[in-house]
Amino acid sequence: MKIHRLSLTAKLTGINLLLASALMAVISVAWCLLPDVTEVEEVRLLQHLQHTTQHADMLHDALHADVLAVLLAAAQSGEVADQQVDQARRTAQQLRLEMTRLEQTVLADTSLQERLEQSRQVTLRYADSAEDLVQGARHAPARMPALRTRFETDFDATEQALAAQTATIASALDSAGLRSGQAVRQARLGLIAAALLTIVAGWSGVATIARSIRNSLMGLRDVAQAVASGDLERRSEHLGRDEVGQLAEAVNDMADALHRMIERMRSDGSRIDFSARLAQALDMADTEAQAHGVVAQAMLQVATDRPMELLLADSSEAHLERAAAHPAVGAPGCCVDSPFSCVAVRRGHAVRFSSSEALDACPRLRGRTGTPVSASCVPVTFMGRALGVLHVTSQAEQPLDDAQLERLVTLAAQAGGRIGMVRAFERTQMQAATDALTGLPNRRTAEARLRRLVGSGQALAFVMADLDHFKRLNDMHGHQAGDEALRTFADVVRECARPQDLVCRWGGEEFAFVLAGVDAAQALHWCERLRSSLQDALQRRSTPVFTASLGVCVCGTGSTPSPESLVAAADAALYQAKSAGRDRAVVSRPGEAGTGAAEPRISEQAATIDISQLVSRT
Ligand code: GH3
Ligand code: MG
Ligand code: MG
Repeated sequence: MKIHRLSLTAKLTGINLLLASALMAVISVAWCLLPDVTEVEEVRLLQHLQHTTQHADMLHDALHADVLAVLLAAAQSGEVADQQVDQARRTAQQLRLEMTRLEQTVLADTSLQERLEQSRQVTLRYADSAEDLVQGARHAPARMPALRTRFETDFDATEQALAAQTATIASALDSAGLRSGQAVRQARLGLIAAALLTIVAGWSGVATIARSIRNSLMGLRDVAQAVASGDLERRSEHLGRDEVGQLAEAVNDMADALHRMIERMRSDGSRIDFSARLAQALDMADTEAQAHGVVAQAMLQVATDRPMELLLADSSEAHLERAAAHPAVGAPGCCVDSPFSCVAVRRGHAVRFSSSEALDACPRLRGRTGTPVSASCVPVTFMGRALGVLHVTSQAEQPLDDAQLERLVTLAAQAGGRIGMVRAFERTQMQAATDALTGLPNRRTAEARLRRLVGSGQALAFVMADLDHFKRLNDMHGHQAGDEALRTFADVVRECARPQDLVCRWGGEEFAFVLAGVDAAQALHWCERLRSSLQDALQRRSTPVFTASLGVCVCGTGSTPSPESLVAAADAALYQAKSAGRDRAVVSRPGEAGTGAAEPRISEQAATIDISQLVSRT
């Protein structure tokens, strides 16, 4: 098993075990050396023996003195006091007691042990001789010389034996002291050696384990520093159930989380950038067609290789038509025909279908030619109203990923906002330029067109028309009938106008027409055709009959009169038409207005309708 795979706890336990083993080793060595030290005990025993021998030697002399005292008393008075006899006996007894102690002493040195035994025998004999001599001095004077001789002989033998014993003990004591000293020195050296060995072994073991711990932690530190400095792919390989492994796993998890967070921030940043650029591009799109172009370009940034299309409802909001397709790979070709047939529009949020063959696939996906496909669809709305849908297809089981779908949702939201706004703006502009009752352009539009045409220098005729006795028509048939009459006149005007002409409701029951590229005769002819068409229309419809008077002002090629003078001239001609009996057209030229008596260049046409008819038809 390799050390670096062990847990931190195991490593620290290993250090403890190493230290405990080292301690045990030292104790064992000391224990092994201890028996040698017991030689000191032998020294102590020899010292005790030496002391006993000295005491015996002293008693030996004392017994000799006691016996001589008894002999002296017997020689001087023939009497021996009991006290003196008892003293000698006690001393002899003490000497025997010491010998008993010697007998009980057990020595490793057998020669010394034998010598002790010899000395003990001699000394005991001397004690017996002393007592016999004391006894003889009291009761058997005749045996005295023999007893005395034996006593003296034993005394000398004992003295020699004890002296020899003392010398032997001293010699043994010297050699035992020497040996014990050597044993103590050996024990010290052994302990020092064992301690040194233990320290070296323990240190190397602890150093190995500590290096392993340090290497693990340093590796982890390197990984943490690498991640902190931006290397988000770096991971620790020291994985395991130990503490460092758990720490490494935590650092790896932290790096993973950091990686995910930064990826998310990058993705958010990219999405925000896409959103900002898209908003700028759409902001520059003034028309719906331009907005469609921007959407098509943005599709490339949603996915470069997925067929994609923008389907939008037309003005009736009933039919979906393709407004934009992916510039590189084209449109997938969804066959949905109305917004509310679209699942995404109905649900009001983005939907993904993993396969056109799946049970829950959109019905519009089924049956498409080729291999099964997946699809992602996002509704396009403006102020809560469905405008259409963004539709993307790809291989089955590979719909757009989350980031791509987010971009598609952003594209749908911004495209919906811009297209809806452009449509609303165009509608507002059209409403501002159009008369609500008749649907014709209003006076402002006509004035602007007139100003442009006059500025271009081309020939034109400006015609003002006023319905005759319209107040009376209102009064007799009601305001509704008046409105209907205005609409009828507008329809007739529309039918008569050429594409290059402009017809408008000037205000009230007055209308104005700008006829491009016509001269006075053509303008007059056009007015007559208008009046004739009006009568035809009135006969077809069961509306009250009415007529119109027209004032025409003609402007030749190259002349650039002011629009105001044209209007004034046409108005003057109209006045003349009214004055001449109504239901006719009068032509004038610019500059003729305000002259009052000026004669018209072209004669009025006779009225084509009897005014009395106005009241006859109801
Ligand atoms: P004249 O032949 O001299 O032009 O007589 P007139 O009655 O047509 O002229 P006048 O200016 O006296 O009356 C115009 C009338 O047109 C008055 C007004 O009620 C009517 N009128 C104007 N605008 C509308 C409209 O939008 N609807 C209806 N029903 N009537 C309108
Ligand atoms: Mg009028
Ligand atoms: Mg009128």
